[in-house]
Amino acid sequence: MAVSGSLRHDLHHRGQRLTPQRQRVLDLFERIGGGHHLSAEDVHLQLLRADNKVSLATVYRTLRLLSSMDLLRELELPEGSRRFELATAEDHDHHHLVCAVCGRTEEFENPLVVKAGVEAAAEHGFRLLSSSLTVRGLCGACAFTAVDQGLE
Ligand SMILES: [Zn+2]
Ligand SMILES: [Zn+2]
Repeated sequence: MAVSGSLRHDLHHRGQRLTPQRQRVLDLFERIGGGHHLSAEDVHLQLLRADNKVSLATVYRTLRLLSSMDLLRELELPEGSRRFELATAEDHDHHHLVCAVCGRTEEFENPLVVKAGVEAAAEHGFRLLSSSLTVRGLCGACAFTAVDQGLE
């Protein structure tokens, strides 16, 4: 993907340096591509598998930093956990369905959400950056288990 070249260029403009550690984390997201949502634990595990010994705390810090640099997008889940995905150059406003039990995450697009964002921004004099919606629910498998166990 040609994305990282331009992202690094942007980065240079903002005067931030990408350390080898940050680069490795970003590379990991670029390898799996957009539309994949990883938790800090997922990233940590993958780095360890690649023989890259790093603490979970460092992974967290790196993910937050890459998000603040707009290289990653941070997705806040209702349970207070977070997932991260690659911020692509042709980023579209997309939304997420998140299973409250297993964390399965699906993406969807809906022009009405974007329209609502545009209208709200205009009404309050905001310059719009993005609109996204997170819908919390139970995925099919988890809903089935909940019924099975008489939890519902
Ligand atoms: Zn997403
Ligand atoms: Zn689930």
